[in-house]
Amino acid sequence: MAAVAQLRPPEHVTPHDLVTYSRCPYEMELLHSRHASLVTGQPVMARTPPNVIPLRHSPLFTPPNLGVVVNDGRLDVGPDDRLVYEDEGEADLPILFAEEQVRVDARYRAPNATLIDKVLGLSGRPDFVIQRRSGEFVPVEYKSTHMFVGYHESHGRTFDVIQAIAECRLVHSAFGSRPSHGIILYGDVAGDGQHEGWVQIPYGDAEERWLHAALTQIRTDDTRAPVPAERNCTNCAPNKDGLCRYAAARSMDTYHPSPGWGPNHF
Ligand code: SF4
Repeated sequence: MAAVAQLRPPEHVTPHDLVTYSRCPYEMELLHSRHASLVTGQPVMARTPPNVIPLRHSPLFTPPNLGVVVNDGRLDVGPDDRLVYEDEGEADLPILFAEEQVRVDARYRAPNATLIDKVLGLSGRPDFVIQRRSGEFVPVEYKSTHMFVGYHESHGRTFDVIQAIAECRLVHSAFGSRPSHGIILYGDVAGDGQHEGWVQIPYGDAEERWLHAALTQIRTDDTRAPVPAERNCTNCAPNKDGLCRYAAARSMDTYHPSPGWGPNHF
C-alpha cells in the first residue's frame, strides 16, 4: 500500500517574524531555532548553511505603501468607539478609552489572547483592537517613540507597514471582517505631546496579496542569509548572545549570553 503523505502544518510566523526577516533573514532563523530548542529541549540547528554568502539586503520585497496617511497629534478616538482587545501582557500601554468604552471580547482574554490565523499559519498580538462606531475593527500598534520626520523617505518605517498589514490579517481572522486599515500610534508625549502622531496604513487586496507572497518567500527560503549592517546588527538579539559570526557591529557591553545558550550552541 502506498505510504500516505503527511501534510505538515506551515511554519509558524508572527508579525514580528515578518519584520525581522525584512531586516535580516538569518536573525529570524536564529530566533526560530532558539525557540525550537527551548520548546523541544534539544539543540535545533539553524537551516542557514555554514558557507552562506551574506546579502546586502533582505530578499523580502517591499510592501505596498500607497495611501499611507500620516497624522500629527492624538489618535481620534470617539465616544462611540470601543476597545475590544488589548494585549494584557504588554506593559506600559497608554489608556486610550474611558472605562465605559472598554468591552474586551471574552474570547481573546488570557490565556487565549494570541490571535491565530490557521489558514495562513500566522499568529500574534496587536497592542489594541478598536471597534469604530461604524462597526469596523482596527488594529493599533503602539510605539513609545516619536514620529519620524519625513516618514515617506527611503529610511521610513517600512517595518511599521509590514506589522500593520500582518495585524490587519489577524483581526480579519479573529473578528470576521476585514479592516480597511491598521494604525501605528506614536505615543511620545514629550514636549507637551508635540511628538505624538499616528499613521494609517491601508489594508486591501494588494496588501493581502503581498502578505501571502511574503509568507511563501519566508517559508521557501532555505538559506535565510545574514544581512550584516550596523543598522541591523546593533540591536539584534542573537548578536547580543554572541550567536552571529557575520555581525557588522558588536558591543562587548551588550554580550550577555542567555543561560545555556551561547556561541558554541551551533
Ligand atoms: S548580527 Fe547582523 S547579520 Fe547577524 S543575525 Fe543579527 S542582524 Fe543578522
